[in-house]
Amino acid sequence: MTDRVRTVLSGLDRIRSETEDLYKDLHRHPELGLREHRTAKKASQALRACGYEVTEGIGGTGVIAVLANSDGPTVMARAEMDALPVREQTGLPYASTVTVTGPDGNEQPVMHACGHDVHVACLIGCARLMALAKGAWRGTFVAVFQPSEENGDGADAMIDDGLTAKAPRPDVVLAQHVLPYPAGYVGTRSGPFLAAADNLRITVHGRGGHGSMPQAAVDPVVMAAMIVVRLQTIVSRELAATTPAVVTVSSINTGAGANVIPDSAVIQLNVRTYDVVTRNQVLQAIERIVKAECDASRSPKAPEIERTASFPPTVNYEAPTRRVAEAFAAHFGDDAHTIDLQTASEDMSAIPEAFGAPFTYWGIGGIDPDLYAQAAKNGTVAQDIPVNHSPTFTPVIQPTLDTGVRAMTVAALAWLGN
Ligand code: ZN
Ligand code: ZN
Repeated sequence: MTDRVRTVLSGLDRIRSETEDLYKDLHRHPELGLREHRTAKKASQALRACGYEVTEGIGGTGVIAVLANSDGPTVMARAEMDALPVREQTGLPYASTVTVTGPDGNEQPVMHACGHDVHVACLIGCARLMALAKGAWRGTFVAVFQPSEENGDGADAMIDDGLTAKAPRPDVVLAQHVLPYPAGYVGTRSGPFLAAADNLRITVHGRGGHGSMPQAAVDPVVMAAMIVVRLQTIVSRELAATTPAVVTVSSINTGAGANVIPDSAVIQLNVRTYDVVTRNQVLQAIERIVKAECDASRSPKAPEIERTASFPPTVNYEAPTRRVAEAFAAHFGDDAHTIDLQTASEDMSAIPEAFGAPFTYWGIGGIDPDLYAQAAKNGTVAQDIPVNHSPTFTPVIQPTLDTGVRAMTVAALAWLGN
């Protein structure tokens, strides 16, 4: 451990209990995307109190906090604030019982089932350590609290609201995510790390009619069925075996009565790819197949293909990832790993892209190490360890929070000047 890292992390004992209390408070009060008013206020207050210049309300609820500490590099660290419409079943004393009214007027439970409360608490912890030890580093540290990651529109909302004019241009952007690995674990990965995700809603048109008279109708049920089967050939027949991608048809909706041929069908798809070329290839193949099957079925009207959500691939830059990986190896020793490719998705990379800055994004473990070791021994990790978005996803408070604070601090100091 360098002296600088040791000096800055010497504040950890001072902030630990407050970081833990803040985490429990955030966990108990989760907020859905673009409604993170309370969370944003907590972050703003904490960072203003330790000398940051704070701007609130960027892209709705987004916050930036800047600590300029003489000349030197600028490091931006990002945490996302939103929770999920999941009913918590962890049984924790600080479990969420929050419900809100959903868009359909129904009551919706809310839970920090993805661990974004861990990210917010750790970034606040790191930001406080940086403020406590200003003599140990030079440059500018920027903390970004982003809304609505789960909906894939929060980073863009901040960018559209002038993020690049409101925050200094970073030399690097850093972010981390708690994942179902043992707490204490940190994992970096150069190149592709998280998938691009695209959700599509496809409407194909037939001509409705009597179930007994198919000659007088164009059947969208058969059309949709052919499309579903043919879409399976994109990954199996058009991509190399070494190119990972997923095309999932997650719903088909059409028809109502046994004796009625409906006039349209709606198909929903989830697509995962790891690079821009493959992503475009798969999306173009979907469009080609849908149009061709509609033609083959005598569809009277062109299909509508809507993209309902879209996340870019998260492809880590090589040089900053190497730099952070080396700093982690020096600090965490055997707990620093190379992490596997993940099929989840993130909108974080839109932020560095807007600044034209490189970035690296890493994973930290959040699962009770004993529980994980036992499951690994039994070969039951997939069954026994709840993953992100599960109603029983339960990051243990320690060493998860200490690891997240340390990791962000060590990574930032790998960039900031002496
Ligand atoms: Zn999530
Ligand atoms: Zn997440």
